[in-house]
Amino acid sequence: MTYLDHNATSPMSSVVRDAVAEAMASLWGNPGSPHRLGQLAAVAVEKSRRLIAARMGVAPKHVFFTSGASEANAWVLSTSKVPVVAAATEHPSVLAWADEILPVDQDGLINLSHLADRLKQGEALVSVMAANNETGVIQPVSEIAAICQRMGARFHCDATQVFGRLDMAMVGDWLTVSAHKFGGPRGIGAMVSTTPPPSLIRGGKQERGWRAGTTNVPAVVGFGAALEQEADWSGDERKKLEAFCIGRGAQIVGAQAERLPNTLSVVFSAPGDALLPILDMAGVAASTGSACSSGSATGSHVLQAMGISGTPVRFSFGPGAMSEPAISALNEALSAAEDVCE
Ligand code: PMP
Repeated sequence: MTYLDHNATSPMSSVVRDAVAEAMASLWGNPGSPHRLGQLAAVAVEKSRRLIAARMGVAPKHVFFTSGASEANAWVLSTSKVPVVAAATEHPSVLAWADEILPVDQDGLINLSHLADRLKQGEALVSVMAANNETGVIQPVSEIAAICQRMGARFHCDATQVFGRLDMAMVGDWLTVSAHKFGGPRGIGAMVSTTPPPSLIRGGKQERGWRAGTTNVPAVVGFGAALEQEADWSGDERKKLEAFCIGRGAQIVGAQAERLPNTLSVVFSAPGDALLPILDMAGVAASTGSACSSGSATGSHVLQAMGISGTPVRFSFGPGAMSEPAISALNEALSAAEDVCE
């Protein structure tokens, strides 16, 4: 199977799996316990925290583990005392808390002068993602953070699709990430900040009193192990496949915007949901968009916000996934799928 759905989740390498298994076998103590078994687990947790912090250029004490990016987003946004202003293309775990929506253009980008105009009108917590999970479109988050700072607004960036794959330094007041998008385990993420929001999960004093709940040590260890891997996500496979799709008359979603090198969203003449099973039979696992929106009857809110009709196919590659033979196999499968659908 050629797995091209890394934006939904990515497989763990044997190194990460071994690290998780080893932690399950020997680091099962509670890191909050004072004895040696607990402290061994605590040391492993702090090692991962240091790795994450170093990647973002922050102090380890500013990294708070959560059960994933959905929880981290909810922590930042659901506790806001000022209106949450989010881009129309945000992940559902952000949009669930949005009070106001910032429209995007046909390439999925927010308009920076509209943002500044909105911020003149009053307090806001602005939430804009680093890169979109469906289209790969990269928002200018450093500029957005600078505008928010200048105008006295606070800024949250959901960096789930970028952190661990490409360089991603801390930006804004709160940054949220998830391990399973770059080869770590599912169910572990982090909220990074010098000023954590009021606690969402209260009780025990884990995470320096900011997030209650016994630490998931094997998942935290897997998070760190995935970060330590030398995985190259910056290949130009997207461009090769893009050229092939353009040659077949397909529309590239977000064509004029800077996009993640691993993500390509394409609208073919045949609908994406008709093409996928045929690709699947040919050994190619792709999707129409976000796994989080599967089951939604209304289609992709991201494409709707960009004014694009039609159901796309989203290809999201992993490091080194697209060798020349894999690209040709995919091209063949796509041609066959399109022919069947015509
Ligand atoms: N934000 C974005 C941009 C995502 O792609 C995802 C995962 N689909 C999430 C948040 C939620 O992450 P998690 O699965 O860790 O809750």
